[in-house]
Amino acid sequence: MEIVKNVYQCHIENEKNAQVMHPGGSNVYFIGDPNEEMFLVDTGEHSRRWTKTILDYYEQLGRPKITSILITHGHGDHTGGIERLQEIMQCPVMCHPKLVKGLKPFVDDEEMIVKLKANEVLRTGGNVSLRAIFTPGHSDDHVCYYLAREKILFTGDIILGNSPSTVSDLADYMKSLEKLSRLRVDTIGPAHGQVVSQQLNQKKVKRVGNMRIQWYMDHRQLRENQILGALAKGIGDVDKIVSEIYPKNLKKALRRPAASNVRTHLEKLTKEKRIDEKPAEYTIKSD
Ligand SMILES: [Zn+2]
Repeated sequence: MEIVKNVYQCHIENEKNAQVMHPGGSNVYFIGDPNEEMFLVDTGEHSRRWTKTILDYYEQLGRPKITSILITHGHGDHTGGIERLQEIMQCPVMCHPKLVKGLKPFVDDEEMIVKLKANEVLRTGGNVSLRAIFTPGHSDDHVCYYLAREKILFTGDIILGNSPSTVSDLADYMKSLEKLSRLRVDTIGPAHGQVVSQQLNQKKVKRVGNMRIQWYMDHRQLRENQILGALAKGIGDVDKIVSEIYPKNLKKALRRPAASNVRTHLEKLTKEKRIDEKPAEYTIKSD
């Protein structure tokens, strides 16, 4: 589906009964003019069904020349199937410098893996220029892509359509959000969940994308306050903090990412010397 001019969303639904890590399915994007050249952003999960969905969509677009495959980050649900897609599309793969080594086993010709530079401007058909914005925090090799003309930001896993993201380094993540908040963003094309855009917003508010970024920043601040509140009550155990601050009906599959989010907040607060960490205690396993 063409979501804004020159941007085509290829949506991939979750498997039935799959874990609910990513409510709202996933997306890869073809960007550019199908009659000229296009970028492909991300290659999805390593699964026949996913790769087939992407290739079917590529057929529908008329098998355009692909300028390059742009990777948002190295997690397996963004780089799966890359060997097959790169072979068919015969194009370079561009990624964060930290990811180059990780992609080498999957791309036959090493020279086809190209290191992005921070803020590099990339051009393709339809007079499209995309800016690569380094945004560590979810992972240290994360890149967002910004199409200024249409004010659309491709956020990978930094901002999702239907849920908060998981974070590996919260201080970095907050800096990345701040960096993104300085752009003018009407539409967000996340790697997971629905596209965040004007059409989906009933109130006709401008800069729906900026509102989403702000919501993410506020959400983190709220979590931090909740964690400080739990600590003030004497709740110092990660699992107990999760039970205290997350909804009581939190799905089992989401408990682990929730705990890791709490941990990353605690690490940030420790780094900032706002809280103290006691050494862990060790006990014999009971099972
Ligand atoms: Zn992902």
